[in-house]
Formats: sequence, C-alpha cells, structure tokens
Amino acid sequence: MLPWNEARQLVIEKTRARTAPRPALSLPLAEALGYVLAEEIRTDREYPPFDRATRDGYAVRAAEALAAATLRCVGEIKAGDSVASPLDPGTCLQIMTGAPVPPGADAVVMIEFTGREQDTVTFLRPTEAGQNIVRRGSEAEVNSVALGRGLRLGYAELAIAAQVGANHLLCSRKPRVALLSTGDEVVPVEEGPGPFQIRNSNSVSLAAQVELAGGEAVPIGNALDRIEDLCTKIERGLREDILVLSGGVSMGKYDLVESVLKGMGAEFYFDAVAIRPGKPAVFARCRDTLVFGLPGNPVSTMITFQLFVIPALDLLSGSEPRAVVLLDATLAEAVEDRPGLTCFLPARLDWSRSIPEVRALAWKGSGDIGTLSRANCFLVLPDDAYALSQGERVSVLPRFDVL
Ligand code: AMP
Ligand code: MG
Repeated sequence: MLPWNEARQLVIEKTRARTAPRPALSLPLAEALGYVLAEEIRTDREYPPFDRATRDGYAVRAAEALAAATLRCVGEIKAGDSVASPLDPGTCLQIMTGAPVPPGADAVVMIEFTGREQDTVTFLRPTEAGQNIVRRGSEAEVNSVALGRGLRLGYAELAIAAQVGANHLLCSRKPRVALLSTGDEVVPVEEGPGPFQIRNSNSVSLAAQVELAGGEAVPIGNALDRIEDLCTKIERGLREDILVLSGGVSMGKYDLVESVLKGMGAEFYFDAVAIRPGKPAVFARCRDTLVFGLPGNPVSTMITFQLFVIPALDLLSGSEPRAVVLLDATLAEAVEDRPGLTCFLPARLDWSRSIPEVRALAWKGSGDIGTLSRANCFLVLPDDAYALSQGERVSVLPRFDVL
C-alpha cells in the first residue's frame, strides 16, 4: 500500500502527463482573485517612476548636510508635486514620503534628525548619499516581467497588476469538478432524513473544498448503491475535468464504485493509501477525466480531498501543485494509535505559548464531523509510532480553510 506522499506524487505525475493548456478568459481585476494567470504581465514604466523619498524630512546634498551643519530651507515638495529645477547649493527642501526628489539632491534626512528655526535647518547626524531615496527604475525596469504565467493571483499579485495598469487579466478557466456522492442512506440536505438515513453533508464540504482550492464545483447529487444509477451518474461526471465520488469504495457488498468504474474502462493508479482515516481512497482515469473515489465517512472524504485532489486541481488550473505545509509543534498531551498507517487525527494548535502546542481531540472516528469542526489541524502520527508522549515534536497539517 502506498504511503500518502507517494500516492500524492503519483497524482501529480499522472495529472501532469495529461495537462493541456486551459482555455483562458479575460477577467477584471476585482474578479480575478484565486485564478491562475494565463499570460505574462509586463511593467508599463520604470518602478519607481521617479526618485522617490521614503521618509518625511529634507532633500539635501549629502556632502552639505554634515552633523551640526545648517542649510536654508527654500520650499517644500509634497507627494504628487512635479520637480524640475535642481536644488540650489547651500539650500534644502522639505520633502514628504512618496514625493519626487529634486535633481541635485542625493539624500533625504528624516525630520526626526533635524532641528529647525524659521528657515534654518540644523542636521544632527552625518548624512550618507542615497539615504531614504528609492532610485527611479530600481524596483523594476520598463517592460520587465511583473507577473509570470502560471502564478496564482493573491492580493499582492493583484496589487502589482493594478500598479502596472493591467485592469484585465487573462486567467485560466477553473477546472470543473463533478461531485457525486453515493449511498442508499444519503438524502439531500434540504430533505428530512428518515430514521436510518443521513443528510448529504459530503456534497457541501466537497463543494466548499473545491471552491477554496480554486475549482468550480459541479454538483451531480447522489447515486444509489446500484450499478445502473452509478453508471448513469458517473457517465454525467465524466464530462468534467475531475470527478470526485464519495462513498462506495470500501470492502462492503454494496461498495460498487470501483467495479462500475472498471466496467467503464477506467485505468486505476491506486486503490488504497496507507493512511487512517482515508485508506480506501481511489485514483483513476476514465476517458479524459481524472477520477477520485474518496471514502464516504466525512472526515475521510475531507482529508483525502486535501491530500490528493488539491494537487490535481492545481495542475489543471495551470499552476504548480501547492506543497503540503506541515508545521512543527510539541505535543500537549500523549497520543496513541495503532501503528502501520499514518494517522491524521483532528487536533487543535495553540499558539498562546512560545512554542506552538498541539492537542489531539477525543473523537468517535471518521464519521465525527463535530470534532473536526472544533479542530483547526490534523496531527500527523507517523506509521511507525503508536504512542508519543507529551512534549515530543510532531508534524501538524493545518486545515487550510481555518488556519
Ligand atoms: P461508505 O464509504 O460508502 O462505506 O460510507 C462510509 C460512511 O460514510 C457511512 O456511515 C455513510 O453513511 C457515510 N457517508 C457516505 N456518504 C456520505 C455523505 N455524502 N454525507 C455524509 N455521510 C456519508
Ligand atoms: Mg456507502
């Protein structure tokens, strides 16, 4: 059975092999957050576009503004003012943050290090040429790459696009992810369940995870544990880039997903991973669609989505797969589990101490969504450890939606 990181690597490999360039769409900046850039954005001018003062103070010739020297202040320059005439020798100009430094001046002295009486400014410290000035073009040359193709657009990326005047961005279309739950006991969330039925919470968590990861969820509903219904609904799902199924991949008599997929010509890359919860997770390709069969217990569905579906989504979005970010923490309380599988236990990270501490939460197994909703991370218990004591260092996988 594959360890989780090898299974994940296989997802990356197989997805990369079939990644064609995505169709792109032009989006206004305000709508582009979370998309992947499908073009290169270049600077429209030099940055900064002028020698910019980075402090409030006085524009001077450094050689004249020696400690205890005095200069006559002959005016002021505010941000947005234009400057043309050079600074006269023996004088200085009051200058504000963001204002252009006049020709001839080669330093800005912070107002805190000066004294002033009427027009006379006294300098309290030695002055170095270049201080508190960002030179024109020193951040970026004109027509240089401001944003590369394949970048995911976060707030800083949108800000630089705004800075260089790229009001519309060509973005990759989000991968479409068909979501199909399975199970005779599963009823739509808005319906009242019978005494032995359960509401389809996976349809909700999966749609949320798809959206958070930068995909577009395509809900297909629920298939009964019958070959015909599964076939029809899987067929519908195979029209999308990715099909994520939940449930029906374990060893039970009515776990039919794998055999139905097989009958439809799927090629399987793995059908089990050495993790708990989530062991029966399946990854396959059927025609042109990547198919994930995730175990139906809600916490299993969530963790296997995070580990295995997200890298495929990233690649199909036109970006590199995001790393699984594991944090180091110390155990606040001893934990125990059976060895043999890597365990992902619902846990809470606490930063109120100097070293982050993590505590596994008591839970009733992988159906226990209540405990996961009180957790902000998974404590990763390695496959060779069955008991770790308080104070030991452990790895923690943050729940990326809440941490
Ligand atoms: P399965 O993987 O089909 O054996 O299902 C495992 C457990 O998860 C069973 O207790 C199911 O009732 C539950 N389950 C399956 N599908 C869903 C779903 N869509 N929403 C909530 N729970 C589910
Ligand atoms: Mg089932």
